Amino acid sequence: MELLEPFLPRTHIAYFSMEVALRDEMHTYAGGLGILAGDTVRSCADLEIPVVFVALVSHLGYFRQMIDTEGRQHEAPDAWDASRWCSKLGAMVAVECDGRPVWIRPWLYIHTNIQQHSIPVLLLDTDLDQNAADDRSLTNRLYGGDALYRLKQEIVLGIGGVRLLRALGFEIDTYHLNEGHAALLGLELLRHWKTKSSSPSCDDTAYDVHAVREHCVFTTHTPVEAGHDCFPYALVERCVPGFIDLPTLKSLSGEDALNMTRLALNLAGYINGVARRHAETTQRMFPGYQIHSITNGVHAQTWVHPSFAKLFDIAVPQWRHEPEALLRAVNLSDETIATCHQSAKSDLISYVRDSTGVVLDPRLPVVGFARRMTGYKRPLLLFTDVEALLDIAGRHPFQIVVAGKAHPLDHDGKQAIAEINGLISRMRGKLTCAFVPEYSMQVAKALVAGADVWLNTPMPPLEASGTSGMKAALNGVLNLSVLDGWWIEACMEGETGWSIGAPGDDPRQHASELYRKLDREVLRLYYDDSLRWRRMMKQAIAYIGSMFNSQRMMRRYASEAYLR
Ligand SMILES: *Cc1c(COP(=O)(O)O)cnc(C)c1O
Repeated sequence: MELLEPFLPRTHIAYFSMEVALRDEMHTYAGGLGILAGDTVRSCADLEIPVVFVALVSHLGYFRQMIDTEGRQHEAPDAWDASRWCSKLGAMVAVECDGRPVWIRPWLYIHTNIQQHSIPVLLLDTDLDQNAADDRSLTNRLYGGDALYRLKQEIVLGIGGVRLLRALGFEIDTYHLNEGHAALLGLELLRHWKTKSSSPSCDDTAYDVHAVREHCVFTTHTPVEAGHDCFPYALVERCVPGFIDLPTLKSLSGEDALNMTRLALNLAGYINGVARRHAETTQRMFPGYQIHSITNGVHAQTWVHPSFAKLFDIAVPQWRHEPEALLRAVNLSDETIATCHQSAKSDLISYVRDSTGVVLDPRLPVVGFARRMTGYKRPLLLFTDVEALLDIAGRHPFQIVVAGKAHPLDHDGKQAIAEINGLISRMRGKLTCAFVPEYSMQVAKALVAGADVWLNTPMPPLEASGTSGMKAALNGVLNLSVLDGWWIEACMEGETGWSIGAPGDDPRQHASELYRKLDREVLRLYYDDSLRWRRMMKQAIAYIGSMFNSQRMMRRYASEAYLR
């Protein structure tokens, strides 16, 4: 417990997230949500914002992606050893679930930044001798299993997490829910404050929803319906019967099923979307709530390639703490920018060669596309018309690198991976394209720094924010993206990158618009006007890097959401 002592007196904010990307070797994340949580940890350390993070330990990770000779995705457990990176804490709490106690014990991971500022992260574990065999596996697989498994995980995270913080001695004033997964924590708070304030004369069904709202911040992350967890009340009643009486529960979380987003909206006093457009979309989906917007950012130090980091250390010495200062990157010299980029690109080329056998040509531009492989991200849009794509490559040779995982139950996403791999074989010899398996922090770092153009083709308005393009921009990689999520705020056409299509146009035109832009503007510029290309690289670093970083994001959460 001494390990926690430095944090206990000053930490009054708890950040709950199903996943958190702390380091590549710790498989406690699946994708963008976890990366954001990890960048949040890192910025809290830099800015000395005292927050304790709570997530699941996920002993078997999300999954390890393997691509077979037919180009299909297969999933394997992605085990990691918590004892290598974390310390086991002594405290244990139980949650009564499905008729028996589920015991929870935390691992403590301490993130320490370069100034030796530290942030504690509690990773919840149910793999304990005290637990029934089924319960021991609850914290194994991130987003794995069926609805019952997921509900129990969310009970462990939300209810267990709050109890654990209390048992460890934290006095938390503000609970930040990173997505709806942890919304059950609000129910635990409701119960807690009711017992505390009730006197014999009080109506004992009166929960103090207002008091809970005072203490909860909710960040919603997706306008995609399937992204909002819903559980049948029968399942909820089976797991935690009478935890909160059913009429109250239904009034907070929906009549038909327990909707975790609805519950979080009702129990949070500050609600935000992750970009301006996303906040507007959320406002339309859930009228009656005030939806603020705090646009996501990325942790500059984490995502900047070492060659650029060295350059920034000399030219913009304060950039690590104060990425706003990257505005001065417009004054960097063309030669240094080009040299740094070439170094990042050759790292990518080595990585692609080692992981796929595909040999990229350093003289040709690389278009990078790495996404969760799922419907609304439209991973096949670039490949809508292979002949057109080959025509473009005939005029202006280029190369493509693709990466991304599909959730094991997302058949369309898995189909898209197989199709892309089929097309890659078909185009061999005419257009070099590689599919890099196992999209992870490490792969993302190589890709976002080493590509020349970063492509994003979501179906508007479904991309809540998107963050990989921010990482790319920090490395002088130019975004070519549909106007959705963060890109609406960052795109200065022909200056910081390019848009695909126009606001409000027909998304069916996006493929032809993408081809037109790629052909006539992006690749043409690459070959015909390297001076202007480099100026755009500098402007991407300066205008995007100075703004779309998690330092700015956390200062806003601190002043607008935490210090209400
Ligand atoms: C940054 C990142 C994401 C999120 O990127 P999007 O642009 O939101 O798709 C997902 N996975 C990994 C590994 C990342 O590094």
